[in-house]
Amino acid sequence: VSPHLTVLDHGYVRLVEVWGHGDAGETDREDANGDLIVDHECGIIEAARQSTQASFRGWDSDAKLLAYLYQHAHSTPFEFAGMVLEIQAPIFVFREWHRHRTQSYSEMSARYAPLPELHYLPTVERLMMPASGNRQAGALRGADLLSVEAAQAFRSALAGQYATFQTAYEIALACGVPKELARLGMPVARYSRMRASANLRNWLGFLTLRMDPAAQWEIRQFAEAVGSIVAEQFPRTWELFRLGRTP
Ligand SMILES: Cc1cc2nc3c(=O)[nH]c(=O)nc-3n(C[C@H](O)[C@H](O)[C@H](O)COP(=O)(O)OP(=O)(O)OC[C@H]3O[C@@H](n4cnc5c(N)ncnc54)[C@H](O)[C@@H]3O)c2cc1C
Repeated sequence: VSPHLTVLDHGYVRLVEVWGHGDAGETDREDANGDLIVDHECGIIEAARQSTQASFRGWDSDAKLLAYLYQHAHSTPFEFAGMVLEIQAPIFVFREWHRHRTQSYSEMSARYAPLPELHYLPTVERLMMPASGNRQAGALRGADLLSVEAAQAFRSALAGQYATFQTAYEIALACGVPKELARLGMPVARYSRMRASANLRNWLGFLTLRMDPAAQWEIRQFAEAVGSIVAEQFPRTWELFRLGRTP
């Protein structure tokens, strides 16, 4: 199991599976930890060369081709790599995330199993963060008026609401209220868990929108974690992405 990248107070992102090695990227070389070294970007080049029935020639020459494809919107080859991630995040983050319709999702269901007893409690610093960089910031104003005392009071009230819900939920389950109805008062701060699968082009589209300062800070933290996994698994494509364009 790959390491969990911690996000917010109880969330995480972890890599479940990655693909894109094509024929050339699957080697039998091992790194210092004994893990197989697999290159998950060779499949992008091979997909592009399918048109001429040629294959991967090595990064000395093919780094240029990768950059050309990326910079000239030859996007489809980047759909021949991808990854599955497992994410634990508050329900309100998932509501934003699930708008990305071209990813595939499978989420744990509070119909069948109680969700983890975990709620997101923003820090005072987060509550007091100005909504800078957001084009809708006018509608989000507030943090600049908030005092530390009011932020602390809000946090305490929120924690109280979570505890009240938890007690009612447990009583309802113990009394035999069906799980699918016992959950009705569940706050959107409750953590849930899902797997999301997408190709590399699609992950970069997600990161373009969700690493942007206009995105809500919480989903941005998850996007940063996704970005760090993309950087590790697809380092050449990540460098092109950092230079500024989505394929
Ligand atoms: C900062 C920010 C603020 C937002 N605020 C709001 C808000 O206030 N209210 C709200 O409802 N949403 C909001 N959203 C969600 C936003 O409108 C998109 O639904 C979300 O970002 C998913 O983007 P997407 O459609 O590109 O992704 P995907 O659904 O993954 O689609 C990827 C691409 O596939 C194509 N595509 C997919 N489905 C269709 C389709 N049906 N028709 C045509 N082309 C399609 C498009 O080219 C699209 O860009 C916000 C998003 C961001 C980043």
